[in-house]
Amino acid sequence: MAVKEYKKTEQKPLSKNFRLSEFRCKCHNPDCTVTKLDDDLVVWLQKIRDHFGRSVNVNSGYRCEKHNAFVGGDPGSHHKKGMAADIRVEGILPEEVARYAESIGIQRIGLYSDFVHIGSSPSKRFWVGHEGVLVATHGGAPVQEISLKLPVLKRGMKNDTVEALQTLLSGHTGYALAVDGSFGPATEEALRAFQRENALQVDGSCGPATWAALMGL
Ligand SMILES: [Zn+2]
Ligand SMILES: [Zn+2]
Repeated sequence: MAVKEYKKTEQKPLSKNFRLSEFRCKCHNPDCTVTKLDDDLVVWLQKIRDHFGRSVNVNSGYRCEKHNAFVGGDPGSHHKKGMAADIRVEGILPEEVARYAESIGIQRIGLYSDFVHIGSSPSKRFWVGHEGVLVATHGGAPVQEISLKLPVLKRGMKNDTVEALQTLLSGHTGYALAVDGSFGPATEEALRAFQRENALQVDGSCGPATWAALMGL
């Protein structure tokens, strides 16, 4: 995590699809001369952009003290620290954006009727609406957590989880596996190919790291 301070007028690409100017404070106060922005926030937003493949509009990025007060922002708002952005993803419901954000491990997510607040702070806070009603989840349990709870699968096993593995492998590799819940040689071959392609340990067994990669972490 690194919050950097830029000149407000500075022009600079930050990632494949985001530019510094998109995060500028929207006010015209003469004393508002900088843009604060956390690198991590841009990384998260780029992941969202890549996942949906749609343009991401930043309604509000950095806010100076005055502008934050003007728009009715919370006095402790992370927009003032450069650690939050309110976004809209073209053609995607905010609920879906919030769910995806949660699934990749973003810890500050506010769901509003027409945008999603995304924050880069690692302290968890999920809420809904301008009243800030706290919620435990937006429906997207983090992939990392799920992947740790899934069993390690190996050749010779037969169960429903193997079916899930076969479905994921068929989707991620060129292998057209039978989804029969039986971990045989073909499943192992596809799994090894997937592990090789994703720079995972090629051991032919599906453990947490492989599960996480399969689920798109
Ligand atoms: Zn300002
Ligand atoms: Zn916000």
